[in-house]
Amino acid sequence: MPRILLVEDEPGLVLTLTDRLTAEGYDVTPATDGEQGFRAGLEQVFDLMILDVMLPKKNGFDLVRDFRQKGIETPVLMLTARGQVVDKVVGLKLGADDYLTKPFDMMELTARLEVLLRRRNSQPQDGDGVFQFGSLYFNFKKGQIRKSGKPVELTAQEFRLLQYLVTHPGLVISRDELLKEVWGLDASLTTRTVDVHMSWLRQKLEENPKFPARILTVHGLGYRWEG
Ligand code: CA
Repeated sequence: MPRILLVEDEPGLVLTLTDRLTAEGYDVTPATDGEQGFRAGLEQVFDLMILDVMLPKKNGFDLVRDFRQKGIETPVLMLTARGQVVDKVVGLKLGADDYLTKPFDMMELTARLEVLLRRRNSQPQDGDGVFQFGSLYFNFKKGQIRKSGKPVELTAQEFRLLQYLVTHPGLVISRDELLKEVWGLDASLTTRTVDVHMSWLRQKLEENPKFPARILTVHGLGYRWEG
């Protein structure tokens, strides 16, 4: 479930957006002023941010600039009032990815969010081997795997398997490929080995291992990492 930080000070709009986005399958964290939003953005990991421009305490431009300065590259959609043409240019310069003028259509908003999510998921996130997916944080170089901020203990084999999946996002990877790439060629292993390790990884990483949202089975073909 993609996590969205929504920083907006109009209570009615917060309510409408939260309801609608929740219904669309997003996990929404609302904040009603810029400082509260900034704290939430630093403390938690989000897949997307929706930032209003005109906000109490810290405006949307300052927010996106400060997030980027802190190295937080979460895609940002900015909300701006009608007629503030200059906002778009300033916002994009400061690091926003897209913007929408109020009042907007909900369909338009969700379409834009989907584009941002897809673009994010199709890009390698970081050359340093650091990945964030919702509550999951992986730093493969440092060997750190965290779920909701808590360390997750993986065996060496699970670690390599996870790394292979995550660095090939969205692609169907066959069990044979995984055996070859992760375990090396060993005639004594069967594809069942892959399934067992996948099940262990799901137990450790998925919110609900019975209904995995990240490590997906592609029937008859293999597995796919859903970022
Ligand atoms: Ca506002």
